[in-house]
Amino acid sequence: MSESLKENTPKTVKAQKLVGVKGMNDILPPDSARWEWLEGQVRALMARYAYRNVRLPIVEPTALFVRGLGEVTDIVEKEMYSFEDRLNGEQLTLRPEGTAGLVRSVVEHNLLYEGGKRLYYMGPMFRHERPQRGRYRQFHQIGAEVLGFGGAEVDAELILLANDLWRVLGLKDVRLELNSLGQPAERQAHRAALIAHLEKHSDVLDEEAKRRLHSNPLRILDTKNPAMQSVVEAAPRLLDFLGEASLAHFNAVKAILDANGVAYSINPRLVRGMDYYNLTVFEFITTSLGSQGTICGGGRYDYLIEQVGGKPAPAVGWALGVERVLELIKEQGEALPDLAPDVYAIVPEIAALPVAMQVLQTLRACGVSAQMHAGTGEGMGSMKSQFKKADASGARFALVFGAEELTQGHVAVKSLRDGEGAQRNEPLNTVAAWAHSLQSAL
Ligand code: ATP
Ligand code: MG
Repeated sequence: MSESLKENTPKTVKAQKLVGVKGMNDILPPDSARWEWLEGQVRALMARYAYRNVRLPIVEPTALFVRGLGEVTDIVEKEMYSFEDRLNGEQLTLRPEGTAGLVRSVVEHNLLYEGGKRLYYMGPMFRHERPQRGRYRQFHQIGAEVLGFGGAEVDAELILLANDLWRVLGLKDVRLELNSLGQPAERQAHRAALIAHLEKHSDVLDEEAKRRLHSNPLRILDTKNPAMQSVVEAAPRLLDFLGEASLAHFNAVKAILDANGVAYSINPRLVRGMDYYNLTVFEFITTSLGSQGTICGGGRYDYLIEQVGGKPAPAVGWALGVERVLELIKEQGEALPDLAPDVYAIVPEIAALPVAMQVLQTLRACGVSAQMHAGTGEGMGSMKSQFKKADASGARFALVFGAEELTQGHVAVKSLRDGEGAQRNEPLNTVAAWAHSLQSAL
């Protein structure tokens, strides 16, 4: 710190270091490059399927999730960050998922007025869970939702879209599980059989399952308790209670997947964590991430729009967990995108700064990525230390704005990647003409 800065800094007791909230992560370089890359791939793919982007609030009325997701769900019972607005007493919640808010928005803005919509979103979600690998309190989802169409073709299209995404992201080792939850009347018939089965095994049910036995027995099938797996596996299958129409819908989805070579397995116990699903439900699962192996889940939710106060309309969608997908990409050894700038500007004397920075502006306008050497406030630092920084940046070229070159109207361009470092001079008054020769993309 310079003397003048030291003098002007107020003397206070050393402040205690503040840290972030548990389970809520900072996403920093170089990792953030992977995030940007993934988001770019998603945007491009969504455009190819003609899905349009929506950006929705992070805070919604608590009632939206209680009504939309169902009161007897993990999320509503124990995972929501809910609070009262101090100023007006409103009950609010940090969104734990994206579908309810999207449906709220679609209804509020009457978006289905002219027919169905294909939409997608990306953003943070909040759930108060026990943080561990692949499970955080602030995490990110990318979701795709199709509203206003009831046919099996959109269920299948969404699955094909997700499957394509794994392909463009280079993910291996992802399998698809499929089930049908039928319609409410079919679930009602199954429910009685399910309760009877679970009651027979009440000795192995945990407290939560006992509580849910009569309020929401289907939820019990979603349990993560290993001690209950065998009871859950032996439970009556909802698939066996489906009527003709539900089965036809399920078969139509399967036929499209078969025709497109998408492999899947039927998991009769797949019920998903929210109450709003009916007919098709699915999850994409990997074995590479331990117990947090579900990277994407979704299904049809034909009754949610009505439940949120809209005119009845069918809908289907999925959401993927960005952290888990990125974890999988890393696990599979994918290299980080190259973050190195094309050039690093070395400025021996402060007097050269105006010219140097003017040249960099022109280079950037031509699409060259250029990193300026930054001094300490007292000087620019020795040539040696500037070259060290240039090497560390990974830049392909150093531009040296030395006094001698400048007097001749030149800047020295020195290659940093080929051992000895070939060097040439380029004129300062025709920067745009030689800019392209510096771009690594070329
Ligand atoms: P899980 O069974 O692992 O708790 P879920 O059924 O609660 O998942 P969904 O509500 O279906 O998850 O959310 C879709 C996806 O979002 C999940 O498949 C997962 O990839 C991701 N996800 C859900 N909760 C978290 C979390 N707490 N941290 C990171 N990712 C999450
Ligand atoms: Mg969960």
